[in-house]
Amino acid sequence: MAAYSYKKNKQLSKHFNNREFASIVNGQLYTDRILVNKKLVTMLEKFFDYGIGTVIVLSGYRNTAADRAVGGDGYGAHTKGLAADIVAYKNGKPLSSKVVAALASLIGFSGIGITGPTGCHVDVRDGKNYKNAHWWGDETTGNNYIKSFLNYAGLTRATLYGTLGYYKKKLYSATAIRQTPIYYLPNKGTAIKSRLKKGKKQKVYAEKNGFLKISAGWVLKSDLKK
Ligand SMILES: [Zn+2]
Repeated sequence: MAAYSYKKNKQLSKHFNNREFASIVNGQLYTDRILVNKKLVTMLEKFFDYGIGTVIVLSGYRNTAADRAVGGDGYGAHTKGLAADIVAYKNGKPLSSKVVAALASLIGFSGIGITGPTGCHVDVRDGKNYKNAHWWGDETTGNNYIKSFLNYAGLTRATLYGTLGYYKKKLYSATAIRQTPIYYLPNKGTAIKSRLKKGKKQKVYAEKNGFLKISAGWVLKSDLKK
């Protein structure tokens, strides 16, 4: 845990600054003190590894009074510097909170809560720093027992990576069951780059619109077998 002062601007990591976590509610700074768990910042930085363009911290640290001002009990994860309410952007557009929560679950946040269409709460509770070690929920429905945010979002790792345009990590291998066109984009209407021969084994990096991302481009999912 690290404590900072609002008066003193400090860059905490590549993308985050201490003031982004300040105890501000409705424009009011409740205290100069800013508590930020270092692991929280490290984990937030990981969103950028997956092609996220921007992560806005709507609320980070909140002292007891600030936490109560937003309807909290004054003891939540925000009061311990463990949490951030965020909106994540890709190509300038906010991602749906379900997509953000699914990615947060892959990154390894122990506390994740959907708070609105684009708003997502993430925290790094571990049972020692907080009353419970795990909470995955949806505040918009009151569901506090989400087992898999990928399932909850109707995504697989492959379709999530496709949504994010993240093509670095091999997900599985698949073999062409017939000769198939390799498209520039996951869209039959786009130009064909080359062709993949029947029987060729390929690494698959993502899925989108019924297409698989292979190193050379996009091929129809139905033309390959895992
Ligand atoms: Zn929160």
